[in-house]
Amino acid sequence: MLVRRPAELDALDGIVLPGGESTTIDKLMRAFGLFEPLADRIAAGLPVFGSCAGMILLADRLVEAHRGQRTLGGIDMLVRRNAFGRQVDSFEADLEVADARFTSPVHAVFIRAPWVEEIGAGVEVLASVDFGGGSRPVAVRQGRALATSFHPEVTGDLRFHEMFARMTR
Ligand code: GLN
Repeated sequence: MLVRRPAELDALDGIVLPGGESTTIDKLMRAFGLFEPLADRIAAGLPVFGSCAGMILLADRLVEAHRGQRTLGGIDMLVRRNAFGRQVDSFEADLEVADARFTSPVHAVFIRAPWVEEIGAGVEVLASVDFGGGSRPVAVRQGRALATSFHPEVTGDLRFHEMFARMTR
């Protein structure tokens, strides 16, 4: 189901925070009174999967918070928005994923994507990309929160969705 209002959170066993524009999603969540209830549910353990802008929303900290941009938090990480460059620098890559169910690489689509710059001790890095002289985490998990810099929903590869479905059980 689509969630637009706080009451709609009650029925959920988990929530997906999609890609898009994290500054806009932040503003809309606040305008609809969804920000605090959702942040509270995530803090209380609601399983959550964020891709791209959704990863940004799950970051406890952002490198440069755009004009007071807020995040829901949920993963002990510092995230850099638009880290790989501008829209024209969007790219695709095959990634090894550090999970037993991923026996072959994932084809990952990055659209003006963020990367993870720092993680806390409880955060597991599932996949990284070599870029700009460093290994940049692009898929991470902490407890019942999962985040990817890329968009698993556009390739038809359901393995990250399956991972998330298992996390909701
Ligand atoms: N660049 C966007 C942001 O900062 C994220 C892009 C995406 O979700 N594909 O929110």
